Amino acid sequence: MKPFNVYKTWPVEPVKAKSCKVWDRDGIEYLDLYGGHAVISIGHGHPYYVKMLCEQMDKICFYSNSVQNSLQVELADKLGKISGYDDYSLFLCNSGAEANENALKLASFASGKKRVVSFKEAFHGRTSGAVAVTDNPNYVSPFNAGHEVTFVPINSVSAVENELSKGDVAAVIIEGIQGVAGIYEPDSSFLKELSLLTKKFGAFLILDEVQSGYGRTGQFFAHQHSGIKPDIITTAKGMGNGFPIGGVIISSEIKPVPGMLGSTFGGNHLACTAAIAVLDVLQSESLIQNAAKVGEWLIASLKKIQVDIPGKITSVRGRGLMIGIELDNKYTEVRDRLLFENHIFTGSSKSNIIRILPPLTISMEEAEYFLKSFTDQLNK
Ligand code: PLP
Repeated sequence: MKPFNVYKTWPVEPVKAKSCKVWDRDGIEYLDLYGGHAVISIGHGHPYYVKMLCEQMDKICFYSNSVQNSLQVELADKLGKISGYDDYSLFLCNSGAEANENALKLASFASGKKRVVSFKEAFHGRTSGAVAVTDNPNYVSPFNAGHEVTFVPINSVSAVENELSKGDVAAVIIEGIQGVAGIYEPDSSFLKELSLLTKKFGAFLILDEVQSGYGRTGQFFAHQHSGIKPDIITTAKGMGNGFPIGGVIISSEIKPVPGMLGSTFGGNHLACTAAIAVLDVLQSESLIQNAAKVGEWLIASLKKIQVDIPGKITSVRGRGLMIGIELDNKYTEVRDRLLFENHIFTGSSKSNIIRILPPLTISMEEAEYFLKSFTDQLNK
C-alpha cells in the first residue's frame, strides 16, 4: 500500500527539530518560520513538554471519556485563566475541523436553526460542516454542499445584517484572522458589530481561532484585540504543539446535555498533558509577549523593505507572528529560493503570498536572519 497522494510536498524530510530549527536527513539545518502550519507554539522538542509527555506515558496514555480524567479539569482550569475565559466551558476533540464541526452543531442545537453565515475566502477545515462553511469549491464535495450556508464579504456589516434579519441563522462563523486566504484581519469595528448583531437576532457568534489563537498574534486569541466576547471559540494547532488536540470553548448560555457531543479520543491523557505543558511554557517563558515583540518588529521592518525596494512587495499584513507578505506576481519564486538557498521554511497562500507562522519562541536573531535573507533575495 502507498500513501493516498493528496499533498504537494517539498523535497525535504525533517528528522530532528529543536525550538525554531529543523534538520533534514543530510544534517542540513533549516529555520522554521512555518511551524508545520502554525502548529508549533512553544518550539519543537521543548524539554518540559517532552518530559511531561514521557512521564505521562509511563502512567497511562489513554482511556475513554466514560471514566474520570482530572487532566481535563486541570487543562480547562488553566486555559480559562490564561485566556480570560474562566466563565466558559471546554469540550475537547482532536483537530481544528472537528472543533468547528462541534461549534456549528452546538449553535444549531441551542438555536434550533440551521443556516450559517460565513465569509468569502474563509477556511474552517475539511469535514462535513467545516468544509461547507469554507469558501473554496475545490474542497467541497456534492455531499458537503447540502448544508445551508451563505457567504458574505468580510467587513460588510450590511450584508451580515441582511442575512441575520431573515431570522433563520444559527451561527456566524469567522476566523480571528483569515489564514489560508492570505492573512486578512477583520476590522475591530466589524467584530464589535458582529457581536451586537448576532445577539440582536438570536444567532451565535463562533470565532475560529484554530490558526490565530494560542498567543500567536500577541493576545491569547486574535479577537481579543477588539475587546469582544464571542459565544463559542474554537482552537487546535498551537494547543498541543504538534500533539493532535482541538477544543471548543463554550459560553454559559449554552448548556451541556449528555450525548449532544462526543469523541473517543478527545481529551485523552496524552493530549491533555501536551496541552497543559503548552500553557505552562507559554506562561513561564512569556511567549505571548515574545510573539507581540518579535512580530511587531518584523511587520515594521517588512513595511520598510516594501518602501525601500519598490515594486516587489504589494502588501504586508497581520499581527504578531501571523504575517502575510504579498509579492508582486513577478517575484513569486522568492519563497522557493528562501527554502533552497537560505534554508528557511515559510508558508504560502495563493501563489504570491508568503505566510510567516513561526514557533512563538523565535528570537530576534532568527527574525533578523530571515529579514536579511529575504532582503537579499528581493535584491537579486
Ligand atoms: N480553521 C482554521 C482557521 C484553519 O486554519 C484550519 C487549518 O488550517 C482549520 C480550521 C482546520 O484545522 P485541522 O486541519 O486541524 O482540521
